[in-house]
Amino acid sequence: MVQLTDVQKHFGSHHVLKDVTLSIAPREVVVVVGPSGSGKSTLCRCINRLETITSGSIAVDGVDLPAEGRALAKLRAEVGMVFQSFNLFAHRTILDNVTLAPIKVLGRSRKEARAEGLALLDRVGIADKADRFPAQLSGGQQQRAAIARALAMKPKVMLFDEPTSALDPEMVSEVLDVMTSLAGDGMTMVVVTHEMGFARRAADRVIFMDDGRIVEEDTPANFFDHASSPRAQAFLSKIL
Ligand code: ATP
Ligand code: MG
Repeated sequence: MVQLTDVQKHFGSHHVLKDVTLSIAPREVVVVVGPSGSGKSTLCRCINRLETITSGSIAVDGVDLPAEGRALAKLRAEVGMVFQSFNLFAHRTILDNVTLAPIKVLGRSRKEARAEGLALLDRVGIADKADRFPAQLSGGQQQRAAIARALAMKPKVMLFDEPTSALDPEMVSEVLDVMTSLAGDGMTMVVVTHEMGFARRAADRVIFMDDGRIVEEDTPANFFDHASSPRAQAFLSKIL
């Protein structure tokens, strides 16, 4: 579903992604872990084409990452992204946040978009908040709205970059529960997170990045219990 081949990314002279080759199968859930600055966010941003890569290739569903224009807009629509900060439109209702892009980009009628939007809000457990504004919701509810907004574009893959890191602890599980349910429904997902419980429960594969490279990849059970590289062991000893 997502294929990265020999991806290099530089910011000026700073080499941030080094020889990243990664193949993500349809319905697969990949959790990405690693120290701060190892390139996890950059990896997500490159897959979504928020950053241009220096060399190598990235294909989504067999289509090579297009550089610009309509092809880029289409690719962006196929890759949903959820960030640490929820990035909802502050002056729009929750339902508007979810329906704006389907109306504008996918050409849905207002009525259709509304019906789909309400169903998605129901799926993430906040249908009763449809007519509220983002500031009237808790952080966990806002993040669930952001997930519904991404899903409204019917993405082929969802990228999550530390979706619970900005939340108060009591709101983390409501967001992880939505993500676990999405994974159970067969969504292809790339999730950068420090939530190791989620990784154990929902991931098919854990990828450990360090200094721009994929250093280790394994099933969660193998990774957490028998990480083989010293760098992964050192990382795990700090977070577990
Ligand atoms: P964290 O766990 O702190 O979120 P990360 O693994 O997501 O870290 P990235 O944000 O991908 O790391 O950053 C990787 C490296 O690239 C860092 O050294 C960072 O300073 C650098 N970097 C990221 N974005 C830019 C940018 N726009 N310009 C220059 N350097 C950048
Ligand atoms: Mg990051």
